[in-house]
Parts: sequence; structure tokens; C-alpha cells
Amino acid sequence: MYKTKAYSAASNTSPLASTTIQRREPTDRDVQIEILFCGICHSDLHAVRNEWSGVMPTVYPIVPGHEIVGRVTKVGSAVKKFKPGDLAAVGCMVDSDGTCPQCKDGFEQFCPNMILTYNSPDKHLGGVTYGGYSDSIVVDEHFALRVPPNLNLAGAAPLCCAGVTTYSPMRHWGAGPGKKVGVVGLGGLGHMAVKFAHAFGAHVAVFTTSPSKKEDALRLGADEVILSRDANEMQKHNNSFDFILDAVSAEHDINAYLNLLGRDGALTLVGLPSKPLGVAAFNLIMGRRSLSGSAIGGIAETQEMLDFCGKHNITADVEVIPIQKVNEAYARLLKSDVKYRFSIDMASLKSE
Ligand code: NAP
Ligand code: ZN
Repeated sequence: MYKTKAYSAASNTSPLASTTIQRREPTDRDVQIEILFCGICHSDLHAVRNEWSGVMPTVYPIVPGHEIVGRVTKVGSAVKKFKPGDLAAVGCMVDSDGTCPQCKDGFEQFCPNMILTYNSPDKHLGGVTYGGYSDSIVVDEHFALRVPPNLNLAGAAPLCCAGVTTYSPMRHWGAGPGKKVGVVGLGGLGHMAVKFAHAFGAHVAVFTTSPSKKEDALRLGADEVILSRDANEMQKHNNSFDFILDAVSAEHDINAYLNLLGRDGALTLVGLPSKPLGVAAFNLIMGRRSLSGSAIGGIAETQEMLDFCGKHNITADVEVIPIQKVNEAYARLLKSDVKYRFSIDMASLKSE
């Protein structure tokens, strides 16, 4: 074991603060990564505040962070994918059983024994896993991803969660030429969804509650922007969408979006509000519409997404912050005031 610096929260009302945690020495299959940047996902905030207590209660202290990019410093003897000095990335998962049908099909995220990057049982050290608001991390090489060298690293970190979580359902539901695709909520996930849908050749509409984001939405690749609190504007799009991706972090009315779907249209939730959302059955039966959800993506698909981003030079639009501003960043996330992902420059942790 070795010690490494980190930021953790001690309870659901405590701010994040500097601490020291233990990491394991790399085993044969592990890579040790010096973390350079870590994105701030709204899931970090939900977890720190224990907002998902009914489904996955938070164990304190929590070290969040699952949008990790860094440089490999050490590799185990059986590691094939990496050597010291390579760039590497880690997303939301650090382990799975590797033998179940989900793992065999490349859906590690649905493995019953999947281990999240933070707040999951740590089979090596006991306690729970600790995430990327930290100097370094040690993971099985299967869960470390290759980073295209042309990408800006601060902007590449958010691809590990916000990127794959939007890429995967866009691919699954066939966002592409001839399709009218909607993105609800222009935050970290939403702005990546816009970039992907645009890159795949779909007609993209953004639904936002923030009039001030209109120009940005167009710059990011949207063909049109709809203010979701304007009922008249919404109504003009009734029965017209093939696919809508909902990336909203708080309670909202999804029926308003179901009504905008055309025949066999699909609304997919990736946002994870803490309370259940109400669905009016009539909005589903008319037009044979469907409502579904999607969780991150498998490891192979995450690599495919990173390679796609390398080829098309796609990264998140980031506001780079020192770790000392993390609590301020959380307060701004709650006000939908982020353009469009905070990325922590982990060099700032060295001064703690
Ligand atoms: P974020 O950056 O905070 O963006 C959320 C956006 O939702 C806001 O920017 C805002 O967009 C909109 N919004 C916020 N409050 C709203 C309200 N009361 N009513 C309507 N719209 C509202 O969050 P994020 O990091 O993108 O994460 C979004 C959600 O996805 C979170 O719940 C997160 O936990 C979840 N998530 C899920 C997965 C998965 O695998 N499914 C992975 C990562 C994250 P506008 O200003 O444009 O309205
Ligand atoms: Zn995330």
C-alpha cells in the first residue's frame, strides 16, 4: 500500500476537503496512473450529498471522481496494454467479474459484480473504492482506456463518463442522417450529446431552461434551440422527434417530451433525479412511443468512443479549476451554471 493525496467529503453536508488515502501497490494486472485531470460529473454531487440513498447509499468518507485522465507510472508484470509514460483514462468502473453473460457481451456496466470507481466495495483493501479527486489511482488494465494523443487532456477527461453516457444511447437508437434528435438539458452530458448527434449527422434540437445558453447550443452543433419552459415553442414540435435524450439532473416533467416524439419515437433517460418521475400512459400508447434508460457504456464501447473523438477531435468544453475550487463548482452545478464541464487540474493537489 502507499499513501496518496485526495479530496473527500466526511458526510452528506460536509464540504470536500483535503485528505490522504491508501492505494494498493499494483498487482500483476494493474496499472498505476498519476492523475492529471478529473472531470466533475453531477453524479459526484448526487453521491457526495447521498441523494441516491435508496439505491446506492454513500459510504463516508467519499472520494468522488470518475472522469480520469493521467499518465501511467507503473505496470504489473502481466500488463499488455500500457507501459510507463503512456496516457491512460479511467471512467465509472474499475472492475467486474469478467465471466457473466453481460461481461462476455461487452456490457461490464450491467455486470452484477461491477465495481464503481468510487463508493463500491474494494476487494483489495477493504472499505470502499476511492475515485479520481486524487493524485493517483491503481486499476486493472482492462478498465484503463487508451487516450488519443491529439486530444486536449483537460477536455478528454469528461469523455470517460459524459462522453460515453451520451455516445452509447445515440448509437443504440441510431441518431444519424435523416433523424430528428433532441437533447434535454445543456450541461456536461447534454453538451456532449449535442456534439455526438451533430457528428453522426442527425438534425439536433436542444431543450434548455437557460435562455443564456442559446448561442452556445448552436455553436456546439445544434440546429435549433427550444426554451423548454415556453409551452408554445414546445407545442410546435409535437409528434416530430425520432429520439430524445434526457440528461436532466433534477425533477422535471418528462410527459412534455414524450408528446414531442413521433411514431415509434424513443425517449431515453440518462439523467438520474433522486425522486421518481411521473409518466402519463396516454403519452406512451399514442404513437407507440417508448421510454428507456441507459447507463454509461461497456469498456470496448468507451474505447470506440475515445477513438471516434480522437479522429474527429471532439472533447468536452471545459472550465479548468484547481481542486481548491471544487465546492464552489458544486454550488454552480446546482444553478446549471457550468460551461460545460468542470475539469480539475490535479497539479493543484500537490500544494495541499
Ligand atoms: P449538469 O452538468 O449539472 O447538467 C444538468 C443540466 O440539466 C443543467 O445544466 C440544466 O440544463 C438541466 N437542469 C438542471 N436542473 C433542471 C431542472 N430543475 N429542470 C430542468 N432542467 C434542469 O449534470 P451532468 O453531469 O450532465 O449530469 C446530468 C445527470 O445525468 C445527472 O443526474 C447525473 O447523475 C446523470 N448521469 C447519468 C449517467 C448514466 O450512466 N446514466 C452518467 C453520468 C451522469 P439547462 O440549463 O440547459 O436547462
Ligand atoms: Zn459521471
